[in-house]
Amino acid sequence: MKISVKYFLLVFIWFFLVVSYAQSNHKFGIALHGGAGTILKKYMTPEKEKAYHDKLQEALEKGYSILENGGSSLDAVEAAINIMEDSPLFNAGKGAVFTANGINELDASIMDGKTLKAGAVARVSHIKNPISLARMVMEKSPHVLLVGDGAEQFAKEHGVKLVDSKYFFTKERWDALQKIKEQEKKQRQNKTGFLPKPIYSEPLDEMFGTVGVVALDKNGNLAAGTSTGGMTNKLYGRVGDSPIIGAGTYANNRTCAVSGTGWGEFFIRLNVAKDISDLMEYKGMSLKDAADEVIMKKLPALGGDGGVIAIDKDGNIAMPFNTEGMYRAYHIEGSEPVIKFYKQ
Ligand code: ASP
Repeated sequence: MKISVKYFLLVFIWFFLVVSYAQSNHKFGIALHGGAGTILKKYMTPEKEKAYHDKLQEALEKGYSILENGGSSLDAVEAAINIMEDSPLFNAGKGAVFTANGINELDASIMDGKTLKAGAVARVSHIKNPISLARMVMEKSPHVLLVGDGAEQFAKEHGVKLVDSKYFFTKERWDALQKIKEQEKKQRQNKTGFLPKPIYSEPLDEMFGTVGVVALDKNGNLAAGTSTGGMTNKLYGRVGDSPIIGAGTYANNRTCAVSGTGWGEFFIRLNVAKDISDLMEYKGMSLKDAADEVIMKKLPALGGDGGVIAIDKDGNIAMPFNTEGMYRAYHIEGSEPVIKFYKQ
């Protein structure tokens, strides 16, 4: 009798160790984007190329090292996005684009694929790192999305220091707004009305740069996050897809994690990120086929454009875009990191 109890205990411990080893040794990886649009080599200087490359690499390495050390996909997503938010190169945090009223209104969201919990903020103008506030909304409030003054009040109450709106100013983004206003004036004079689309994909790199990160950690948990200033010259109060769960951001351990960039109105109407997950869940499609179906077929068919980065529960990556280019990078355990801007 004694022996069998001992034996049972040993088997139990062995089983427990095997299960926990397997759980904490899931293949891990990270992918990120820094916006999609008319990213062509002819508009680049070697210096600019290097600046983008180095910043994407820094964000990628930060996120990857968190995962490698056993950190969570949520931590990797937040930390990598913080790096891009703090860089004026991207349309998120510092360097965000200007609204038609000449101010910066930032949107962000984050989602945990394990619990399907999510947090988001929209129209914030004094938050240095909107993705971190989105995470606080997820973890410290009963809500998913807080906007404007309310989001900033929530930030203050949770000890986040607000920054002066001047912090977000960059001359490039300001000049881009003036340029669009000029074009708009001409169009109005020609009686063609407003520009059909708030421009983000002009051959000017100041027009795009939304950032997003997806990650899969050693415990097999997926997470996704997106942060943006939206679209240059957007109207007062406009909210894009980035803070809308299911549109610009989605994560579900059963399928994949997705972050999008592009013409937000179309991403909202198509529920792009959730649609990719649904195609996998209900139709049994692979990540690549599901992402291609939405980005290369459904999105352009409706007149929208942009791209996504996505990672599935097994560590497969998909990064389709239907624009000229997309700043993008990924690093999967067991392979070399990859950083790309252009189509090839
Ligand atoms: N999707 C963002 C928005 O519509 C813009 C972008 O990705 O460049 O707000």
